[in-house]
Amino acid sequence: MRRLFSHGNKNRLATILTNSIFLVIGVLIIVMVLQNYQVNREVVSQEIGRTKQQTKSLVQEIFNLRIKSLEIQQDSYSRNRVLLEGLLSDDAPALGRFFNGIDQVSPDLAPDFRFIYSNGGIVWDDANYQFYGISEPQILHLTEDMVSGTDWYISQTPSSMGMRYLMMRRTAIIDLYTGEVVGFLFIGVVLNNNFSLVNAITKGGNADEILLAVGSQVIAASTKDQDFQHIEWLEQSSHSLNASRYMVSKTDLTINNVPTFLSVYTIQGNEHVVQFVRSHYVWIAIASLLVMCIAIYTRIWVGKRVSKELQSLMKYADTSIQRQTVSDFAGSSIEEFHQIGNSFQRSFKRLNEQEKQFADLFNFSLSPVTLWNVEGQLVRFNPSAERCFKTDKARRLLIESLQPHIRMCAQGATLTGINTTIANKTFRWNLSPITTDSSVMRIMAQGQDITSFIEAEKQSEAAREEAEESARVRSDFLAKMSHELRTPLNGILGVSQLLKSKMDDPRDVEHMEVLCNSGEHLLAVLNDILDFSKIEHGKFHIEKSAFRLAELTNTVEKIFTPLCDSKGVDFSVESNIDAESWVFSDQIRLNQIMFNLVSNAVKFTHQGHVQVRVNALDQGGTTWLKVEVFDTGIGIEKSKLKDIFEPFVQAESTTTREYGGSGLGLAIVRSLVSIMDGEIEIESEVAKGTHFTVHVPIQLGMNPTFLPENTGLLAEPATLFDEQVHVLLVEDNHTNAFIAKAFCEKYGMKVTWVKDGLHAIDFLKKDSQVALILMDNQLPNLGGIEATKIIRNELGLTIPIYACTADGMQETRHSFLRAGANYVIVKPIKEIALNKAFLHFKKNYHQMAEMK
Ligand code: ADP
Repeated sequence: MRRLFSHGNKNRLATILTNSIFLVIGVLIIVMVLQNYQVNREVVSQEIGRTKQQTKSLVQEIFNLRIKSLEIQQDSYSRNRVLLEGLLSDDAPALGRFFNGIDQVSPDLAPDFRFIYSNGGIVWDDANYQFYGISEPQILHLTEDMVSGTDWYISQTPSSMGMRYLMMRRTAIIDLYTGEVVGFLFIGVVLNNNFSLVNAITKGGNADEILLAVGSQVIAASTKDQDFQHIEWLEQSSHSLNASRYMVSKTDLTINNVPTFLSVYTIQGNEHVVQFVRSHYVWIAIASLLVMCIAIYTRIWVGKRVSKELQSLMKYADTSIQRQTVSDFAGSSIEEFHQIGNSFQRSFKRLNEQEKQFADLFNFSLSPVTLWNVEGQLVRFNPSAERCFKTDKARRLLIESLQPHIRMCAQGATLTGINTTIANKTFRWNLSPITTDSSVMRIMAQGQDITSFIEAEKQSEAAREEAEESARVRSDFLAKMSHELRTPLNGILGVSQLLKSKMDDPRDVEHMEVLCNSGEHLLAVLNDILDFSKIEHGKFHIEKSAFRLAELTNTVEKIFTPLCDSKGVDFSVESNIDAESWVFSDQIRLNQIMFNLVSNAVKFTHQGHVQVRVNALDQGGTTWLKVEVFDTGIGIEKSKLKDIFEPFVQAESTTTREYGGSGLGLAIVRSLVSIMDGEIEIESEVAKGTHFTVHVPIQLGMNPTFLPENTGLLAEPATLFDEQVHVLLVEDNHTNAFIAKAFCEKYGMKVTWVKDGLHAIDFLKKDSQVALILMDNQLPNLGGIEATKIIRNELGLTIPIYACTADGMQETRHSFLRAGANYVIVKPIKEIALNKAFLHFKKNYHQMAEMK
């Protein structure tokens, strides 16, 4: 496209204007000439046609007149007495005199020949037909053809002077007395060279020349000029309506409206019409020439006038573009140019202002702005960039670090967030291409000094890492401490339980119970800390199993009813769930949730009641367990409600002192609820009470179809095994080992205790009587999992291995099972857990061994 407007192809405006004028005028002239020509032709043709028609009528009229005069004369003389007498007396000289007399009076009306026919022969004639070379027999012959009527008879007859064309007419001569026809007066007109007829038509018909023709033969003419005698020319010209030199018209003569074979060609000089047409064309040519001259003059004048004004307009535009300042437009005498000039002036001023604003933006920007060309060369710096990169080295480094990105930008990409570190300062650059006509002309790189941000970011990152590390250390410490505390505590509790079962004195039993309860409480706090630490580390898992909901509600009722009774607080547990229905969920966690909520309610209520409602409801295709705990206790302030789920937070600073607790209970409850995909809500009013609502999705059914295994009833230790079972106990901790051993012995088992994996393997290599291995996890020298692997893989023994692990984590459990363990017991070992494990052992391994 652009090539079309190269310099060579450009036209001046004046040329375009005048060319247009020329074109319009040219077209106008052509149209005018054509139209004139057409009109002229039509007018001339119509005029010629009309004239020809008039000439035809005139010729016919003259011919008719001439014939009529002949007829009248003939008819009147045929009744003349002198003629009759002359005829009756057969006086030829008298007849001759009679006709001579007439012809002398009016020679113009005399026919070419006359004769009188009577009694079968010519009785008188004027001897004229002989003059025309026609013999008497020929005349008689013609006369015989005319037997009746008074019509003109046109015929041809050969004569001594060639073929003669004749017009003849007869009239009866009647005896006035007898009324008898005594003869016939014949008159005849010879058409060949009939000058009198030709002259009469020439005169009357306003024609220059007349030609009388029969078919294609000219028989009489007013001119001797042979040029006119060509019948084809005459024929052609008679049909033409064009303005030619001669106007020829043809009249086919009729007599009493009966067509004849005679035609009359009239020739009229047409010089004046031709002249008129010619002068008309000359005038058109002169007028066209005149218009052309005016157009040329106009072209030159417009060209000069428009060019001058345009030149000054263009000069103004050029100088305004080249100079930085914008001068005022001087104005133009052409209105449009004047307006264009003023628009230019306004646009230049606005552009100038915009340019200044942009320059200000560039110059006064506090961030460094640089301009690059597409080859990656630095073209311009703003003052801020100059300040930032003062030294040559800094500039070189800037170019080196930004150049690859500038080249990418030159392809049209916009790049953001490019960091460069130069002279200990970090800049973040945004690169954008500046495009003109969809091609990249320049690239602008705008920078921001982010050194301080980076520093702050680093510091905050370090602080975060530090905080995380300290949280981890704290959490680890808590976990380890709890673990370490739990082991001796388990010892205390285990021994207390053993002692209690052996005591008889009720007071001793009571003391021992206080010991047990305190130990249980301490264990609960430690368990809370451990649980929370696990939750924080994301190592907490839900284990679902089928259980009766009644187990849950009964336990709560059994535990808290005596406590409330002692405080004088009413306690009730309600449920809309059938006591026989089964729930599939994590019983332990649900227990934990309910225990925490109810124990808080009981703890913070001094009068009134604590109410527990456990309901099932269907919502959105899911069965929800809705647990509500109402109390009429001390309540919580509204402002504290949002914080009490946070760990180690208590509503009042005095709470610990007055009520004890660690502030972890609700944090654990909220985490458990959320792990179980449920929700917890709280409503509370100070001094009125608190209402907790928990929603947890569960599966509910009347049969334990989803029950993984039959839990069965607890077995009586003394009677569970029929024979003594040899157990290998692998445990490094003395207390734990003592308790485990004591429990095992209740079942009549023989217990061999070894302190680590290596000893266990050594023992197993020698002894093959072991029926069950109880394997601890964390052991010195060789760990429980590794020892299990060796027993299974290297020793190839299939003795059931029941692992005992303190952390209760899924990972450890799975590792044990993968290594070849058959069952995992979670420590601290409780009697009930051990009972369950032994029941499992009996069913799956001991009985089978017996069967073998
Ligand atoms: P704590 O071990 O202190 O009971 P929790 O996390 O279980 O820790 O509870 C956090 C705090 O929330 C409590 O210290 C107590 O201030 C408040 N709180 C919890 N339950 C109740 C309740 N039923 N009535 C009044 N205050 C309660």
